[in-house]
Amino acid sequence: MLVGGGHAHVEVLRSFAMRPLAGARLTLVTPGPEMIYSGMLPGRIAGHYSHEDCVIDLVALCRAAGAVLVPHAAIRLDLAEKRLLVAGGGQAPYHQAPYDILSLDIGIVPKLDAIAGADRHAIAVKPIGDFEAKWLELQTRCLAPEGPRRMLVIGGGAAGFELILAVRHALVAELGRDLAAAARLSFTLISDTPLLGADGKAARRAAEKALEMRRIRLLAGRPAVRIEAGGAVLDDGSFVPADAVFVATQAQLPPWLREAGLRLDAEGFVAVGPSLQTLDEEGVFAVGDCAGMVASPRPKAGVYAVRQGPILAANLRRFVLGEALLPYHPQRRRLMLLGLGEEEAIALWGPFAAKGKWAWRWKQHIDRGWIARYRVGGALFPSPAT
Ligand SMILES: Cc1cc2nc3c(=O)[nH]c(=O)nc-3n(C[C@H](O)[C@H](O)[C@H](O)COP(=O)(O)OP(=O)(O)OC[C@H]3O[C@@H](n4cnc5c(N)ncnc54)[C@H](O)[C@@H]3O)c2cc1C
Repeated sequence: MLVGGGHAHVEVLRSFAMRPLAGARLTLVTPGPEMIYSGMLPGRIAGHYSHEDCVIDLVALCRAAGAVLVPHAAIRLDLAEKRLLVAGGGQAPYHQAPYDILSLDIGIVPKLDAIAGADRHAIAVKPIGDFEAKWLELQTRCLAPEGPRRMLVIGGGAAGFELILAVRHALVAELGRDLAAAARLSFTLISDTPLLGADGKAARRAAEKALEMRRIRLLAGRPAVRIEAGGAVLDDGSFVPADAVFVATQAQLPPWLREAGLRLDAEGFVAVGPSLQTLDEEGVFAVGDCAGMVASPRPKAGVYAVRQGPILAANLRRFVLGEALLPYHPQRRRLMLLGLGEEEAIALWGPFAAKGKWAWRWKQHIDRGWIARYRVGGALFPSPAT
């Protein structure tokens, strides 16, 4: 049973579609019929991609893999009884789904309670599957004559950085010709740590320069403590006015999984070993943002979920067959390509940073190539019937 149509589980479905395993029954429990690819989300907000460009059709993928799709959210996990409780769609408020082998790839949810008022006045960026609709609704309001103009993003990691640039690009493109409206546009990024704190000095300098060139105000080292209807209050009591506040700060496991009894890592995510299996529960795997690799901790990024996919697929197969599981070794360095709103990106590799249109084209090539692997019937995924 696969819980969550995330970045690793799409690879499991692809693998089982390409090479079915006799006797194995696959079920995917996930609330929506599509998965949005995180690498292309900022490009979608900026207006470079259509919805179809950056989503994977989970219904088609399940059909190709012979998997049953349960289009609802899991709400409780009973490890002793090997049962998942799934929110009901029809008459019943929920139903039970028994499993033999379980794999969790459900992403994470925002820690909205860390900033007072965030639950009422902010737009949470996670879970990313819900964000596109929230953005489209806001964008429509922005186009009205007296619509929101002052944008504030809280969170100085890669997601917050790409988000403020994408939002700026979209609104300047939409409102740029209306001089009065454009004059009222303002963009601010707040971070309680240095910008891209975890990614080194060169990354920070390149990112700061990109913001400066686009007149995006950066308030680094300043935690937001409260969000109100008209803006955010910082720890020194100063007030940053804003018509829309996005929260892209640290996230956490949803409560139902936190309370399931699985061993958690120091940061509160499901602890897994090199085989991606949980530490105490045989046959329960976890991947992506919801998992913490205790032997080799890494920051939360879609690239790890993507790279875990093939190992997870192999290990689920091996577990069924009673074979030894393979280890996943996350790369020590990862290439980061951060879009700058326009068709330009910063490339980060360890201590090196470089910027240019070539980096955007490279990012596009990688992202489009990855998503094409999951288009059933496409050149990279001939449907089983063809
Ligand atoms: C703006 C932005 C830009 C980003 N850009 C990048 C980037 O360029 N590169 C990068 O590496 N990372 C990027 N990230 C980080 C990336 O989004 C995450 O690391 C990635 O989405 C994690 O993948 P996942 O498979 O763990 O979870 P997700 O992609 O969140 O997938 C989880 C799935 O589980 C489903 N689900 C959730 N709850 C339940 C439930 N209760 N029951 C069943 N199913 C459930 C969801 O609907 C979803 O289908 C970005 C993040 C943001 C916010």
